[in-house]
Amino acid sequence: MTLTDTHTHLYLDAFDDDRNEVVQNAIDKGIKYMLLPNIDSTSRKGMLKLCKQFPDNCFPMMGLHPTSVKENYKEELALVEKELETGKYIAVGEIGMDLYWDKTFQKEQKEAFQQQIRLALKHDLPIAIHQRDSYEEIMEAMEEMDTSGLTGVFHCFTGTREQAGKIIGMGFFLGIGGVLTFKNSKLEQVIKGIDLKHIILETDSPFLAPVPYRGKRNESTYVRLVANKLAEVKEMDVEEVAEQTTINAKKIFNF
Ligand SMILES: [Zn+2]
Repeated sequence: MTLTDTHTHLYLDAFDDDRNEVVQNAIDKGIKYMLLPNIDSTSRKGMLKLCKQFPDNCFPMMGLHPTSVKENYKEELALVEKELETGKYIAVGEIGMDLYWDKTFQKEQKEAFQQQIRLALKHDLPIAIHQRDSYEEIMEAMEEMDTSGLTGVFHCFTGTREQAGKIIGMGFFLGIGGVLTFKNSKLEQVIKGIDLKHIILETDSPFLAPVPYRGKRNESTYVRLVANKLAEVKEMDVEEVAEQTTINAKKIFNF
């Protein structure tokens, strides 16, 4: 069985003591592919180092995360632009808007998001969208632009059936992670009616660990727990879930 963790921050300091073991353990357990979204200029080096160590398994994205959009965002965006010109990246990510923690830079977040969409279109790359308390704002930002030909994922999707339908209609995929395993998660009912061909799996490590590790450090190996839960919800074999979601991930990210 081959699984793909389409969103994992294995380069963060939560893994400083055992990073290589964590990655090797995931590979040994069938998580063959781990896709690494960037955060900002401080995370790039560690991310690229890990991808260099595991060139058949770890693949980098390049982007400026919305919670890192601050006073210096123009410098940060210039670096993203330069990296996309010179480096090899599978996507522009993670990008988007986060109005949960702080609305101070809402205007700048939108500008950074739209600018990075333009970069994705220029380089013919998919995007990995971070959306938190900002579904309407994300949609509005995208509707203002000509995004034809653009694809990607709404990472950590936890929205409604209507929102899922709209995202799929745009040619985007739903990134499903540990939240699906949480007790009383409404996501289960939403996902039940959605064709597997629109879904990819993720952990968002080290955050959002699935049950029974909820609240602890998440790692890519646990994407298997998300796959198990999805198989249960959709009444399918976990092998089929693993295979189809990996096919979907390859289709989007072309790794
Ligand atoms: Zn993330």
